[in-house]
Amino acid sequence: MSKVLIIGAGGIGQVVTHKCAQRADIFSEITLASRTLSKCDAIAAQLAIPIRTARVDADNVPELAALIRELQPKLVINVALPYQDLHIMDACLETGVDYLDTANYEPLDIARFEYSWQWAYQERFREKGLMALLGSGFDPGVTNVYTALAAKNYLDLVEEIDIIDANAGSHGHPFATNFNPEINIREVTATCRHWEDGRFVESAPLASKRVFDFPQGIGPMNIYRLYHEEMESLVKHFPSIRKAQFWMTFSDNYLKHLEVLQNVGMTRIDEVEFQGRKIAPIQFLKALLPDPGSLGPLTKGQTCIGVIARGLKEGKRKQVYIYNICDHQACYREVGSQAISYTTGVPAVVGAIMMLSGTWHAPGVWNMEQFDPQPFLEVLDTMGLSTTVIDGGDWPEL
Ligand code: NDP
Repeated sequence: MSKVLIIGAGGIGQVVTHKCAQRADIFSEITLASRTLSKCDAIAAQLAIPIRTARVDADNVPELAALIRELQPKLVINVALPYQDLHIMDACLETGVDYLDTANYEPLDIARFEYSWQWAYQERFREKGLMALLGSGFDPGVTNVYTALAAKNYLDLVEEIDIIDANAGSHGHPFATNFNPEINIREVTATCRHWEDGRFVESAPLASKRVFDFPQGIGPMNIYRLYHEEMESLVKHFPSIRKAQFWMTFSDNYLKHLEVLQNVGMTRIDEVEFQGRKIAPIQFLKALLPDPGSLGPLTKGQTCIGVIARGLKEGKRKQVYIYNICDHQACYREVGSQAISYTTGVPAVVGAIMMLSGTWHAPGVWNMEQFDPQPFLEVLDTMGLSTTVIDGGDWPEL
């Protein structure tokens, strides 16, 4: 039985809070804190059990540390934005509390997401006997665990991975993002990098396109290659990986709007002068776009996120495809959110359960693939996200 502090009352925070509230056997006291108290209170009002709410600016380390001291949680779950990661880690170090997040640190003024900044906290967490679990969402998160499962149970040597993320759902808006629009657009428009023969190779964002035939009736969809952070930790922890690529589906409509927005400068992250004040166009754009949290009732269809791992088993080349399929409307019925928020929030709670139960617990800063995948996937299944493994198969190389 543990107290937990959840930071960030957005789309993912809503799912995390619901799922923690479902497991009162583990989360004995829940506090949801965010910059806007009314958003926390709105989520609290949806729950069957009472929780505490608080206003906090997580970029203000003394303010956050004071809240942590007052609440005395065993764990802080960070589902605010990547900009807050280092500040929240600092506050955890100062107050002696474990830390978990779903996205790696990214500076506000540079669209560059990498683990170096958070890995640099390794010694400080280890010395204090504290644990930080990084990237406990779906991708990163479950995709790291799937890769670890492929290495543990299905392949002697993992040589190639393709992480494939499909949203085969539709929300009916001409243009909307399924999670924070600013973070989403920064990710999708960043220079693409994939791992090949010991180094990251750069290419234009979304320039590589394939068609992938998704399982269980979803069928063929266009997938586009982009950079995603889990490749950095996976190639570090599985040095046998020669090639790693990340692919995502986008509708033609999404791509058309994105191209126009880019062409007119609306996705710029640097500040421009407007009527005597400075604004970052992407932040202004975020204010205009639909709130991802409002997409729940509208979104229909499924997501399919998984990993195809290729390599050697008993000297022979072999593939394994490990994936989850999640239904937007089923998620909405359960927690009032669409499947993108659900597939991120549920693994965050499962990561928290792994840490609080001691199943995954060690001082230092860790990525998901560094622990035994089996107990995580067992709990993930009971919490609403099942795993399918196709052992063998002949998907074409992407
Ligand atoms: P939202 O924008 O919906 O929510 C973010 C929340 O963080 C908002 O409620 C915001 O508060 C709060 N917040 C922002 N800054 C601060 C601050 N300084 N102090 C306190 N609270 C703050 O985003 P999402 O829920 O869509 O995404 C949350 C995280 O999940 C992101 O980091 C994203 O990258 C990650 N993610 C991970 C995925 C994965 O699979 N690993 C997939 C999708 C997302 P307010 O509204 O009051 O401003």
